[in-house]
Amino acid sequence: MGQKWKIWVFGKPVQVEEVDMNYFNDESASKYGAVDCREGKIWIANNQLAENKLETLIHEVIHIFCDEMKIELEEQQIQQLALGFFLLCKENDINIKKLMRGKDG
Ligand SMILES: [Zn+2]
Repeated sequence: MGQKWKIWVFGKPVQVEEVDMNYFNDESASKYGAVDCREGKIWIANNQLAENKLETLIHEVIHIFCDEMKIELEEQQIQQLALGFFLLCKENDINIKKLMRGKDG
């Protein structure tokens, strides 16, 4: 297992862990992240560029938003929002890299 850290989403701790791609053991070859909203856990595939990991993390956090706020979105819509939020931060020099090491990292 890879590196683990903690982020906060809606005042709740969420454990993030980088894992090998094959960890997901999923039929879809394009799986780069996973989330367990109830348990507060996110898994990020480690075979991605740093920027892609970040976008994947944002994607999984949006899943938590949807769960918490009872919003139903298609996977495709979540992907689009994640890209939009990622670019918003990047183009405005908002330091979202901190998401990859937690508040105290
Ligand atoms: Zn998703």
